[in-house]
Amino acid sequence: MLIFILSCHSNSYSTSRLREAARNKGHRVRIIDYMQCELNIGFESHIYYRGEVLEKPDYIIPRIGSSATFHGSNVLRQFEMMNVKIVVFAEGLLNSRDKLRASQNMVYNNIEVPKTYFPSPNQSNFEYMISQVGGIPLIVKLLEGTQGIGVFLMDNKNEARQLLNKLNKENTNYLLQEYIAESKGMDVRAFVVGGKVVAAMKRIALNGEFRSNIHRGGRGEKIVLSEREEYLAVKTAKILKLDVAGVDILQSKRGPLVLEVNSSPGLEGIEKCTHIDIANAIIEQLESN
Ligand code: ADP
Repeated sequence: MLIFILSCHSNSYSTSRLREAARNKGHRVRIIDYMQCELNIGFESHIYYRGEVLEKPDYIIPRIGSSATFHGSNVLRQFEMMNVKIVVFAEGLLNSRDKLRASQNMVYNNIEVPKTYFPSPNQSNFEYMISQVGGIPLIVKLLEGTQGIGVFLMDNKNEARQLLNKLNKENTNYLLQEYIAESKGMDVRAFVVGGKVVAAMKRIALNGEFRSNIHRGGRGEKIVLSEREEYLAVKTAKILKLDVAGVDILQSKRGPLVLEVNSSPGLEGIEKCTHIDIANAIIEQLESN
C-alpha cells in the first residue's frame, strides 16, 4: 500500500514510529506536511503539494495538530472526495476537537461525562454559573484547549469570578465542569484502534498539579481496564467516528466518566510505559480494511 502520514513534524516520535511500522511491513510511506497542501476543488479535485499534484494514496493516517484543525479537516475532506481510505475522517476530527460538542454527543449516546455547563455569551451572573456545577471547587475549560493548557481548577469563588469575567471580556468560549476531586490528579488513557482497546495507562499528575497530561509532567503506568472502562472507551471512539482514538476517563465515585477524546493521540508516553507496539497495531488495522 501507499500510505500518507499527514504530519507537520516528520521526526516526532509518533510519526517516526508509524513510518517505521509501515515500512517494516513492506508499505510505501510518505510524510505529507498538510499545512503545505493546497486544495483544488472543481471538476477534477486535486491536492497540490510543494508544486506537484499529489498522487492518490491507498490510506491516510492523519496526525493533525490541535492548532491546525481548520486547515487539517479541509485537507482530510479533500482526500475523502478522492475516495481515499482514512483512519480519522474530517467529521471524527471535528467531533473530537470541540469539547462541548464531544460531550453532547457522548451524553446523547448514554456515555457518562462530568457534569458540564455552557453559559450563554452574555451571562454575567457568576454566582448562578458557579452553582450550575455544584459550586467551588470547579473546573473552567477553554473549548479548544489541549495538553492541559486552558484547564483551570478554581477553589476560590473570587478567583473564579475574576477568571470568568476576563474570559467574557475576551469573548473566549469556555465551559464549567464539576471537579472530580476523588480522581486525585489521575486519569486513564485508553488507546482504541479499530474498535478495540490495544493499550491503556493511568496518568498520574505531578505533586501539587491536578492535570495528569504527560505534557504537564504526568507519568504513565500500565493498567488493565475494568470492563466498564473498556466498554466506554470503545463506544466513545465509535460514536465519534474515530478508528484511532485516545479516550480519557476519570474514575469518579459514581463510576468511570469520559473526559475527552483525542483523535491524534501521542504514541510515545503510552508505548514506553506499556511496551505495546501501538504503531504496528495501527498499520495492521489498515491492512485488515
Ligand atoms: P486537555 O484536552 O487540555 O488535555 P482535559 O479536559 O483532558 O484537557 O484536562 C486535562 C487534565 O485535567 C485531565 O487529564 C485531568 O487530569 C484533569 N481534569 C480535567 N477535567 C477534570 C475534572 N472535571 N475533574 C478532575 N480533573 C480534571
